[in-house]
Amino acid sequence: MMKSKKLIKISQIFFFLFFLLIVNKLSAQEVIEGIHYFTGQPVRIEIKDGEIEKISSIKELEGNKPVYIAPGFFDNQVNGFAGVSFALGESDLTPAGVEKATRELWKNGVTTYLPTLTTNSTAVLIKNFATLSKAVDNKNLRGSIPGFHLEGPYINPEDGYRGAHPKQFVKLPDWDEFMRFYNASGGHIMQVTLAPEMEGALDFITKCSQKGIVVALGHHNADAQTVTAAIDRGAKITTHLGNGAANMINRHLNPFWSQLADDRLNISIICDGFHLLPEEIEVFYKVKGVENTIITSDVTHYAALEPGEYKTETGETIELTKEGKLYYPEQKVLYGSASPITNGVGHIMEVTGCSLGDAVKMASTNPARLYGLSDRGTLVPGKRADLILFTLDGFQVDIQKTWVAGELVYEK
Ligand SMILES: [Zn+2]
Repeated sequence: MMKSKKLIKISQIFFFLFFLLIVNKLSAQEVIEGIHYFTGQPVRIEIKDGEIEKISSIKELEGNKPVYIAPGFFDNQVNGFAGVSFALGESDLTPAGVEKATRELWKNGVTTYLPTLTTNSTAVLIKNFATLSKAVDNKNLRGSIPGFHLEGPYINPEDGYRGAHPKQFVKLPDWDEFMRFYNASGGHIMQVTLAPEMEGALDFITKCSQKGIVVALGHHNADAQTVTAAIDRGAKITTHLGNGAANMINRHLNPFWSQLADDRLNISIICDGFHLLPEEIEVFYKVKGVENTIITSDVTHYAALEPGEYKTETGETIELTKEGKLYYPEQKVLYGSASPITNGVGHIMEVTGCSLGDAVKMASTNPARLYGLSDRGTLVPGKRADLILFTLDGFQVDIQKTWVAGELVYEK
């Protein structure tokens, strides 16, 4: 009798210790400390049920190297990642592929992104949108994909302005066709990049704006009047300003001045260190300011692959350097981007001298605002706990941990 009582007591103690261990582990997961990306002050963030519950100041952090905490990055132009292409026809896009790309982006601190489909055949666009549509509600992705970006096919067909978009699929805006893309996407196309000077484009912009789809001007050669008309009808942003344009332009009559001059227009810029010269980034940033500038990656599926030579879908040889430059080695021209937005955050700080807080704003807060996603993009109680911890090595952002909707999804 005495012996069994003793056993019960011991088992109760064990149970209690086990309970303490579990509680301790749970609470440890819910508290994160770091230097606030904007204020520069050490803070403790408590998260509960996927959201930020409380932010409080603390005296100091443990450890020698400053570890910053910020809202996760939001990339509005991701053509693919880590070998998974969203845009190409022949590489069969699968839900598993979308998950793989998303997990790789989490490692780079990207907690929200818009998979981007570029100019292609109607059949490929519909097929890929249908596959991507499943990602929006895929619980494993935890809301990292709120919708998509369609860049093309309604762009300017001229060489230079068209960029790398295949000419045979470039066409005039066609609302009925677009609705087929939209329906295939489950109604999740959040942005369309088009050329406003093409016949029918202005009415197309009006219809998109009425549906709440963000219209972006890109791969275009619109005159000032047309740019103004497009903005009047609701166009909100220029896609990758400075790229998707011909090398030889008229010094007066070109698409840049009007887009820079109109304060209603936001811009996205590719800050990978290869697509724009430092002085271009500086000027764009000075004109548009922190509030109206968004850092984008326009990253292709070659990102996060090993440096070396690759063959494109059309059989051309391209090279990826260890610095992240992706180019045709023979012609010495860029093929596309292979740097995640993470690198852009450091690069814009280096080039413009802006603060870390401003750089994160351009890579997280601003895009969240543009697409009306008020649940993310800032460190405020009640927002999604999409958080990143990182160190800065010079201007290199080095992601240590990533949380998406309160769950730790990456730890270095
Ligand atoms: Zn483009």
